[in-house]
Amino acid sequence: MRRIVIVGGGYAGLHAFAEIRKRLGSRIRSGDVSLTLVAKDPYHTYHGWTGEVISGRLSVRSTLTILPTLLRGDYVEGEVQGIDPERQVVAVLTPDGVNRDLPYDHVLVATGSRDPFKRLPGLAEHGWCLKNTRDMQRLISIITNTRAYQRDWVTNASNHADERTSRRRRRLRESTT
Ligand SMILES: Cc1cc2nc3c(=O)[nH]c(=O)nc-3n(C[C@H](O)[C@H](O)[C@H](O)COP(=O)(O)OP(=O)(O)OC[C@H]3O[C@@H](n4cnc5c(N)ncnc54)[C@H](O)[C@@H]3O)c2cc1C
Repeated sequence: MRRIVIVGGGYAGLHAFAEIRKRLGSRIRSGDVSLTLVAKDPYHTYHGWTGEVISGRLSVRSTLTILPTLLRGDYVEGEVQGIDPERQVVAVLTPDGVNRDLPYDHVLVATGSRDPFKRLPGLAEHGWCLKNTRDMQRLISIITNTRAYQRDWVTNASNHADERTSRRRRRLRESTT
């Protein structure tokens, strides 16, 4: 059996998964090929609606596609710690703290990019990451709950013609007056 492991459940990983499954479907069904996707978060985040989520028009939940449901038994949840090309294994730390080796014949790494928090002075203190749900929820709760941020947001929002931002601005004004 040929074992294909994809690391990452973002756009690149999921498109690769779908394409491989389309092309090798019969070999996968016959057990000649196995296809596994491993990702640390059990959901894919659709970034295209970031504006709608931040402005309160859509919930964070509506941007998520649940990987275990989408991929069923072909998904492994865990953070990849390393890849050993000699032993041909992907080392995974599962959410319950178990180290697991996933053997592969072919591995595709699609772990995305990282924000340069260490490289750009001030970014860690003043910037916000919007890549994953946790970061987005943190920003939304700060905007919603902190008076200082509400003030900044209202100021910034007034510079935008975007009607979604204006809606949030109106809501924030109402909640602060
Ligand atoms: C706020 C925002 C808005 C955007 N809006 C748009 C838009 O409107 N249109 C557009 O075309 N593009 C947009 N983009 C860009 C687009 O989202 C990225 O180009 C795209 O996400 C890159 O896909 P990717 O698969 O390479 O990485 P990602 O989508 O970042 O996926 C990386 C995957 O790897 C996993 N991973 C990372 N490290 C590990 C590890 N060690 N072990 C296991 N899994 C790991 C992650 O959990 C994730 O599943 C936006 C991006 C952001 C942040």
